[in-house]
Amino acid sequence: MLRAKVLVIGGGPAGSTAARFLAKQGIDTILIERDFSFVKPCGGGVPNAAFAELGIPSNAIKKDVKDIKLVSPLNNTVDIRLEGGFIAIVKRGEFDSLLRQSAKVKGAQLLEAEFRHFEETGKQITVLVNINGKEERIRTDYLIAADGVNSRVRLALGLKLPSAIYTLTTKIKKDDGDTCEFWFGESHARKSYSWIFPEAEGISAGTGSSDTGGLKGMLKAFAGRRGLNADSSVTRMYKVPLWSGELYNKDNILFIGDAAGQVMPLTYEGIYYAMKAGEFAAMAIIAEKPSDYKKLWRKRFNSRFMLMKKLGDYFLRDDNSAEKFVSLYRRQEIQAATMKLWLEKSSAGGKLISFANFFRKVLN
Ligand SMILES: Cc1cc2nc3c(=O)[nH]c(=O)nc-3n(C[C@H](O)[C@H](O)[C@H](O)COP(=O)(O)OP(=O)(O)OC[C@H]3O[C@@H](n4cnc5c(N)ncnc54)[C@H](O)[C@@H]3O)c2cc1C
Repeated sequence: MLRAKVLVIGGGPAGSTAARFLAKQGIDTILIERDFSFVKPCGGGVPNAAFAELGIPSNAIKKDVKDIKLVSPLNNTVDIRLEGGFIAIVKRGEFDSLLRQSAKVKGAQLLEAEFRHFEETGKQITVLVNINGKEERIRTDYLIAADGVNSRVRLALGLKLPSAIYTLTTKIKKDDGDTCEFWFGESHARKSYSWIFPEAEGISAGTGSSDTGGLKGMLKAFAGRRGLNADSSVTRMYKVPLWSGELYNKDNILFIGDAAGQVMPLTYEGIYYAMKAGEFAAMAIIAEKPSDYKKLWRKRFNSRFMLMKKLGDYFLRDDNSAEKFVSLYRRQEIQAATMKLWLEKSSAGGKLISFANFFRKVLN
């Protein structure tokens, strides 16, 4: 039987960050990841400010993106130039591995192992994991569930998985680009949008939908509309959780990142919030007050998540509302307020109020 003060399940951005902050404070931590070679399907866009804020080496950045394009269902286009920051593109496999290694360097024990189920969930927690085909038990005081949108920890505790939208993505190596594009239209994205993201090599194209039916056809329709030569045989489907903010901890079991549904509504930005959740969960455990995690997270992010959820529910309803959404972005002040909210993550108070004011009229 292995023992640790904290067991972190899942070595993505959330879990690795939690393990790094814990180990840095000398807390005996085990971080398990079921597959070190796993590459999460993801645009890999992170606001550049996150690197300094979270102590991540900036050599993980493969591309700087300063241009954004919005395209409405009726082909009206808005081009936005980012000022005062940029979207840093990381290569997910490499980025996740770097974050895990950083946790290890600080003293966390890193294991390639898969969480299977709980044997005990009281004051002491015992779990059964699989390491190289062999069963092993780990006993711990605290457990952090950072095992993503299909969280097995949630299921093992009898909790439902978060609601989600479905995405289908493909990589196009021969195309190059340095603009993030967001395309709206129900013919290729249902209650969502389609996108082009620059990658370290080439671009990725993807589309989202509230259900799985017809996703392949929708990606094809988007490729046709955008004029892409996408090879639709090499696609990956993955879920993006829809935030509801209902789950933080159950006693000494804390849920972070996609396992807690912490993806920003409307933009589907999750990497930064997953890493911050990891930091907050670590702080709460260091203080031996697991319920502090919810307080820290809500104090910093709840208002902006609630606002973005309202905006997402309103603007992603149908083509008419998406048309309105894109046309609002013709206004310089809305562009500026949104980009501030996206790129500058600290002390959101004033920024959030100005952003909310712009949209209040539309939502009422
Ligand atoms: C198509 C797409 C594009 C996206 N683009 C962006 C973007 O550009 N920018 C952005 O900020 N966000 C983006 N997101 C969201 C972002 O990818 C997630 O929010 C982020 O990865 C969440 O990190 P996480 O650590 O919580 O979960 P994950 O990254 O999913 O990590 C969970 C980890 O747990 C491991 N695991 C799972 N089960 C077990 C188990 N039983 N035992 C052990 N380990 C286990 C997995 O292997 C995985 O490594 C995108 C998502 C999708 C689907």
